[in-house]
Amino acid sequence: MATLAEPAIQFTRLPHPAPVAADVRAAVVADPGFGKIFTDHMVVIDWEEGKGWHNATIGPREAISLDPAAAVLHYAQEIFEGLKAYRLADDSMALFRPEANARRFNQSAERLAMPALPEDTFVEAIKQLVAADKDWFPEVEGGSLYLRPFMIATEAFLGVRPAKQYKFIVIASPAGNYFKSGAPAVSIWVSDYTRAAPGGTGAAKCGGNYAASLVPTAEAFARGHDQVLFLDAAEHRWIEELGGMNLFFAFDDGRLITPPLGGTILPGITRDSLITLARDEGLTVSEEPYSLDAWKADAESGKLIETFACGTAAVVTAVGTVADRNGTFTIGSGGPGQLTGKLKDRLVEIQRGSAPDPHGWVVKL
Ligand SMILES: *Cc1c(COP(=O)(O)O)cnc(C)c1O
Repeated sequence: MATLAEPAIQFTRLPHPAPVAADVRAAVVADPGFGKIFTDHMVVIDWEEGKGWHNATIGPREAISLDPAAAVLHYAQEIFEGLKAYRLADDSMALFRPEANARRFNQSAERLAMPALPEDTFVEAIKQLVAADKDWFPEVEGGSLYLRPFMIATEAFLGVRPAKQYKFIVIASPAGNYFKSGAPAVSIWVSDYTRAAPGGTGAAKCGGNYAASLVPTAEAFARGHDQVLFLDAAEHRWIEELGGMNLFFAFDDGRLITPPLGGTILPGITRDSLITLARDEGLTVSEEPYSLDAWKADAESGKLIETFACGTAAVVTAVGTVADRNGTFTIGSGGPGQLTGKLKDRLVEIQRGSAPDPHGWVVKL
């Protein structure tokens, strides 16, 4: 909906009456965990039909007021993104492929009948927030500032149609090392539920997908597993992805397989980056359907040597065991494999500026 003629949006800085005291902040960022502590500021931009994006502010992070009839509360017109600001060796900060998040955000917006946000505004909003909250960067090994841009339909109207008013908001949360290095491989439960169906919203990063995955995820936890895996909706045979991470399968002949993007899988930026890095390493990567049956047979024959999951939050995580109603099988030795560790290190080194960035992915702040 943005046109090229639209002038770049200007952000108004609202003063913060009471930022968190430095000593309190230092104490919380020393052990941030994930997603439970938030910084002082947030970005808000409004959209209205006929007016477009306007009223861009960066101000105190505070509760937002919504009419109880706001469309997001009834029909779940909501999308989000997740990315991190990293600290580089020279103490400066950087983002990793933020324009890819901006593009995906607009693809999600299109599927949820929401207005597009100019990509440069998306990236600028994030830069402004990181600059305002740079003191919240956690001083822990592997720490990052996790950024959560999202958009909600705010119009008060109970009819079923796309809303005519929205808010784009960005909040930030200091994050520790999600899975510390040397983390054990995770155990996976193959769900009987499906996450996404052809023609549905599986490729959109929308809250509704997550609402629907909570019961399957709780079931996996209750059975003693760490993560849930979803198969395709039509045949319940083809591997799709975990609750919030994409999957890769590594074979003894140097091949790597990842399920293809066909509208039911979230197009992960980590997934895309690892495809490139694996090819750089001389591996053959194919995006092709891979079945649960083949996975089990290949793990048992030894053809399949490693499986890993990937996403911004946890980067790269090895899969150790897989269970469904028919039993359990183990991948390799059941622990993190060599290729998993190597690809993770390659990616993390680029993100943190300790290795060259041949693909121009790092955006310095
Ligand atoms: C966000 C997300 C991913 C991972 O995407 P990244 O861009 O790599 O962080 C994978 N699956 C789902 C369902 C997601 O929401």
